[in-house]
Formats: sequence, C-alpha cells, structure tokens
Amino acid sequence: MNLILFGPPGAGKGTQARVLTEGYGWPQLSTGDMLRAAIAAGTDLGKRCKAIMDAGDLVPDDIVVGIIAERYDQPDCKAGAVFDGFPRTPPQALALDDMLAQRGQKIDLVIELKVDDAILLSRVEQRIKEAGGVARADDTPETLKNRLAVYYKNTAPLLKFYSDQGKLVQVDGMVAIEKVTAAIAALISEAKAHA
Ligand code: ADP
Repeated sequence: MNLILFGPPGAGKGTQARVLTEGYGWPQLSTGDMLRAAIAAGTDLGKRCKAIMDAGDLVPDDIVVGIIAERYDQPDCKAGAVFDGFPRTPPQALALDDMLAQRGQKIDLVIELKVDDAILLSRVEQRIKEAGGVARADDTPETLKNRLAVYYKNTAPLLKFYSDQGKLVQVDGMVAIEKVTAAIAALISEAKAHA
C-alpha cells in the first residue's frame, strides 16, 4: 500500500510513520528527514536547502520530487511506502501521481492527522523544554508560525485534491499516540478490505 500521512507541522506524522513501518514494513519516506540528511552530509543539494528550511519555507518542488523518485525506486518500496511530509504543494501531488502511475502504482490512502494550532505550538514549546534548547533550527515558536502559514497556504489545498479522489480519511491527532495508531490501523484494514 502507498499511504500519505498528511497534516500540519508537528501533527505527529513522523511518529506514526515509524510505527507503520514497524507494523507493516512499508518504509517511511520523509522528505524533511532526507533533506536534513543532505544538509548534515554537506552535499550541494543540502547547501541549497538549508536557509530555506531554517526559515520554514518550502524547498523547490523539483528537488523534493527528485529525491522521492530516487528513494521510491529502492527495492524496499516494492510493497509500498508511507509518504511523510510529501507532497506539500499541488505540483508535488501531480508529480507523485505521475511517478506512481509510471510504475503501475497509486496512492491508496491519505490519512489526515487533525491537530489544532494551539496544540502544535505547545508541542514545540514542550520539545524545546525537554531538549534543553532548540534541537532543530526550524523548531522554534516563531518559525512554527511561518511553517503553519505555509501549510495552510500551499499544502492544505491538497485535502480537496485527495478527497475528490475519494482517498482522504481523517484521524484525531490530539489523543494519545497509541490511540492515533489504533485509529490509523483500523482505517488501513478498512481500505484493504475494499481494495
Ligand atoms: P514538519 O512536518 O515538522 O514541518 P519536515 O521535517 O517534514 O517538518 O520538513 C522540514 C522542512 O523541510 C520544511 O519546513 C521544508 O522547508 C522542507 N521540506 C520538507 N518536505 C518538503 C516538501 N515536500 N516540499 C518542500 N519543502 C519540504
């Protein structure tokens, strides 16, 4: 199965993607993680993206589409993948559909994690407290505000794109992590039963 975990920054997409990878074996394809790895490795691509990411803005579509296509062609994605933080713009969503179609695949399910803005902000503050400082340059209350604005402007419109395709389901992302996981598992079972 190919799934998209959808939701604002800090909604818990990464946490749930890792659980899905453990439970079902579908690798987590996080463009944020891949870009941070490129920055850490000091590649040209990483250098191009660092300032953009630190500001909480979006890196160019062609960059993320390229790294996703390369990653998806690894053999561990044969049975599917969990897309986390991608797609984030309409052109990325179209490119993803094309890329999958070329490989005889498709997106099966888009799971939106719903979390209120105030809770997202309190999660960032909590992470800073626990880490004893800012662990990720873009994980500050100020940058979160920009990341949220970018999410509502560029990414949230994709909800209609996927609901029009009949693929969108919603999960309350404000309950305990295990409860979110259970809700997602139920939706996956249901989607499998109808596949
Ligand atoms: P979060 O979901 O917590 O905002 P991510 O780790 O998914 O964080 O992304 C961090 C940053 O990486 C984004 O703010 C953006 O700058 C960049 N990024 C990640 N994925 C994409 C994408 N699909 N398109 C454009 N930029 C992206």
